[in-house]
Amino acid sequence: MSAWRHISLWMNQLDDDFIPRPALEGTLEVDVAIAGAGYTGLWTAYYLKTRAPHLKIAIVEAETAGFGASGRNGGWLMGNLLGEDRLVGALPEAQRRETWDLLHGIPDEVGRVLRQEGIDCDYRKGGVLYCAARYPEQERRLREHLGELRRLGLGEEDYRWLSAAELNQQLRIAGPLGAIHTPHCATIQPAKLARGLARAVERLGVQLFEKSRVSGWQPGVLRTDRGELKASWVVPAVEGYAAALPPLGNFQLPVQSMLVATEPLDEAVWAEIGLERGQAFSENSRQVTYGQRTLDNRLAFGARGGYRFGGKLRSDFSLTDAEVGLRRYLFGELFPQLKDVRISHTWGGNLGMSRRFHPHMLIDRRNGIALSGGYGGEGVGATNLGGRTLADLILGRDSLETRQPWVIHERSMQDSLRAWEPEPCRWLGYNAIIRSFVFEDEVLANPHSPAWRRRLAEKLAAGMESLMTWKVG
Ligand SMILES: Cc1cc2nc3c(=O)[nH]c(=O)nc-3n(C[C@H](O)[C@H](O)[C@H](O)COP(=O)(O)OP(=O)(O)OC[C@H]3O[C@@H](n4cnc5c(N)ncnc54)[C@H](O)[C@@H]3O)c2cc1C
Repeated sequence: MSAWRHISLWMNQLDDDFIPRPALEGTLEVDVAIAGAGYTGLWTAYYLKTRAPHLKIAIVEAETAGFGASGRNGGWLMGNLLGEDRLVGALPEAQRRETWDLLHGIPDEVGRVLRQEGIDCDYRKGGVLYCAARYPEQERRLREHLGELRRLGLGEEDYRWLSAAELNQQLRIAGPLGAIHTPHCATIQPAKLARGLARAVERLGVQLFEKSRVSGWQPGVLRTDRGELKASWVVPAVEGYAAALPPLGNFQLPVQSMLVATEPLDEAVWAEIGLERGQAFSENSRQVTYGQRTLDNRLAFGARGGYRFGGKLRSDFSLTDAEVGLRRYLFGELFPQLKDVRISHTWGGNLGMSRRFHPHMLIDRRNGIALSGGYGGEGVGATNLGGRTLADLILGRDSLETRQPWVIHERSMQDSLRAWEPEPCRWLGYNAIIRSFVFEDEVLANPHSPAWRRRLAEKLAAGMESLMTWKVG
């Protein structure tokens, strides 16, 4: 299926014939049936099979392993979770350190499995640089954020302020004001991880069926057009595609994120820019930017996403001129020498956002359902934790992973997850928020904006941001 080769730079780079694995035909009885061969489904299968090799596990995937966000993301493998500040902040102080260590340990745990299974996905643990450059408010906000992290018990070894001169030693951007550096992040080639994991679980004895879209599910059964999996445990691992498996779509809303990649850049250009150790980087605005220098010396750069009325999925990711233009503008402000660089790849994908703006890992023992999702744009590392956690929950093991505040025990989805508001509330809310963010960015990035306008734009955007997380619990 050559079409799969074109879904992202990462899939395009693979030395892979993309011949689909066989589809599910007829009825198969297993212990654990998983829908979706992205990182969540694959990590869950991996940890279950390594911890309990006797289990019969099957995965049914609508397209091919890595077709979803797992084969398309920005390759930041982070040692954290979306919304962790709120979650960890609510823990008793004595418990916080072990939770931080669990999160910060994610990139190393992934690194360990990569070595053990011989998966090469260009893993480089260079940390992240959260930079302030385009306007002074970025520096103020980053320093406030660092203060908040300190209050939550995180020290210099976890998050460190870099002066402009210190930042320059790692990354040279226009107008640097400083940065926060954390070592708890690696960069990877996402599709190599997804495809490598798929082969690893198959070697362990997991059955993986492709071109096998689940059209219906209920406790104990995943049904496709031509077959069904019957199982004691069902794991829906479809994240951004949750609307396909009602009622999951009430809890995980599809949001789109989009990236561009340049052609490989000369060593001379990289000598000007830096990022020698595979560091990830972002500039701290509400445009949510994320970038990395790929192993073949491209700049891969993503920013802000989109939401479609009714939670409609986007399948055509040929980016419009405006979508490419926004990303080119944002990286061009940081790297003026790249303003006119040739962009060789543009793509995007659907990710899942939970109403509480943090992931959930859930076990509903009565119905035999285990679910991990709602990672927002921060699922590359979180899915590894999700897989480990679901494996322990299904095996009935009490572990550090299963004792975390994002883990929900013994309650059904309906009782434990918060549903999104109906339309048109979601669409109106999303657009109001995004417009306030765009307005803020335009005002703050203009050095001639008067102080009152800057304050107004910031207040409006901050107000909208807190409205978003209002009453989320
Ligand atoms: C453009 C983009 C950039 C991102 N960048 C980052 C980043 O840099 N760092 C980070 O931490 N996170 C990032 N994320 C988020 C991260 O990629 C995801 O959180 C993570 O990959 C989710 O993995 P998953 O397995 O849960 O879902 P997916 O990878 O989406 O897998 C779900 C799978 O389910 C399959 N499926 C769907 N419907 C059905 C069905 N009915 N039956 C069977 N199978 C079905 C799909 O084909 C897909 O393969 C990004 C996401 C996107 C879209």
